[in-house]
Amino acid sequence: MNWPRIWALALAALAPTLDGPAWAQSAGSTANAVGQTCNRASFRVAVDVGHTAEVPGAKSARGKYEYDFNLRLAKLIEHKLTEAGFEKTTLLVTHGKSRKGLFERVAHSSKASADLFLSIHHDSVPDKFLEKWQFEGQEHGFSDRFKGHSIFVSRENGDYRESLQFARLLGNQLKARGLQYTPHYTEKFMGHRQRQLVDSEAGVYRYDQLVVLRKTRIPAALLEAGSIINRDEELAMEKPERQALIAAAVVEAVDHFCAARRPQERIARQTGTASPTRSSFAPAAMLPAAHAKSQR
Ligand SMILES: [Zn+2]
Repeated sequence: MNWPRIWALALAALAPTLDGPAWAQSAGSTANAVGQTCNRASFRVAVDVGHTAEVPGAKSARGKYEYDFNLRLAKLIEHKLTEAGFEKTTLLVTHGKSRKGLFERVAHSSKASADLFLSIHHDSVPDKFLEKWQFEGQEHGFSDRFKGHSIFVSRENGDYRESLQFARLLGNQLKARGLQYTPHYTEKFMGHRQRQLVDSEAGVYRYDQLVVLRKTRIPAALLEAGSIINRDEELAMEKPERQALIAAAVVEAVDHFCAARRPQERIARQTGTASPTRSSFAPAAMLPAAHAKSQR
């Protein structure tokens, strides 16, 4: 009888339990480094579809609308979050003109009393960078000069610190999956679209004026998932593999963010004693008209 071999087999059989107790591995909750857990079932994420069917945002290098890219990716993110146990995830689809859409966004989000707001967009370039090409017999604008995603937060958000924390988590998760952010927003040639890079590892920029970020009082970030005016990246963004990669990054970032939240914040929310300024959106009437036309 080969006792050393039997002991080796017995130890191998026990090995899975050595990774940690079963209760720590149960589905629907994760523990962070300091042992706090995420209650996925009660954490509410609002996934906002950038723009509306009527005012569909940027046009891609092949003439498709940004709204369709936003809707497809946001739906996948919602599906993957729900599948991972974030059952209270809501998809925000708004309609009509940009100003009306903004009001709807704020109203819907307020009703959902979300813990986190993530707006999904796809990027383009200022008109001065556009070149012309023919695709399927039609002339389209394109620019292959820039590619990559970018994440934006507003310092005027009611919870800037946590907005930045989530944005960093998301940027790092995208990076861990081999995706690179675009650094061009720091360049002078971006003019009024030039932004301050607040995290050069994670690719997080500051965009204080962005309405959906500055008027939300909960942690909020905007993801430009990729540049659809870049001919190669437009094709990449159409691929289910790329979409799945981004959705997986969002799910993991949300999970880490949820687990790392300050415990008193969660307890306050659960018992209904949270400060109203941290758990709801500003009333629609507070949106300044001057910013409404940004469509975001
Ligand atoms: Zn957009």
